[in-house]
Amino acid sequence: MPSIERRTLLRGAAAAALATAVNPRFAGAADDAGPFKLPPLPYGFSALEPSIDAQTMELHHDKHHAAYVKKLNEAVKDHAKVAAMPLEEILAKLPELPEDIRTSVRNNGGGHANHSMFWQVMGPGTGGGGAPDGDLKTAIDNDLGGLDKLKENFNDKGGKVFGSGWVFVAVTSDGKLSLVSKPNQDTPLMERGRVLFGNDVWEHAYYLKYQNRRPEYLKAWWDVVNWKAVGERYAAAKAGTLKV
Ligand code: MN
Repeated sequence: MPSIERRTLLRGAAAAALATAVNPRFAGAADDAGPFKLPPLPYGFSALEPSIDAQTMELHHDKHHAAYVKKLNEAVKDHAKVAAMPLEEILAKLPELPEDIRTSVRNNGGGHANHSMFWQVMGPGTGGGGAPDGDLKTAIDNDLGGLDKLKENFNDKGGKVFGSGWVFVAVTSDGKLSLVSKPNQDTPLMERGRVLFGNDVWEHAYYLKYQNRRPEYLKAWWDVVNWKAVGERYAAAKAGTLKV
């Protein structure tokens, strides 16, 4: 065939491969049958070294996150109406869910939402590091006292989570930022809020490398925050299009 057509075809194939890599709808192992899919990690397991070690990333994504997805699918298996709802809507309507699945959906749906966000807001090399800019920087300066103050208060809040949980920066649709911590797999989505970014302070997120030294993990984590991705989430939150 003429080379121009061949190039177009190859481009199509590359685009399809990319879609497979980044679109959760196309992802997932055979055993996560159901409406919810494990999104692929957007970088390699070792990409966040040395802040987060490769073994932790592999277990965290392939085992922990996968288990939340599997159990969420099991919970909604006989509840077609819930299964058809977007995850953020399910989490905003927990009190309205059938009582027999409410706790499982809270834990596993929250876990699915939190981890889907978590992989997105981190990145290696040029993705990670850097600093917030534009509107996001202005909001951090105005609402959270600037980046240094944000890091200090975020780490303090994360250090104080008793047992397992998360520390988040939540964002309203008018762009206001606030620091919030949650136990277990709870999320601001459960109060119809939105999450700008957050860090996982469950021991499974850091224990292999940091053991009991959670503050050290919290400090090192900032080196892998992908500020470009966070900036995009900020714009989406203000546009009302940010999901989980
Ligand atoms: Mn986790």
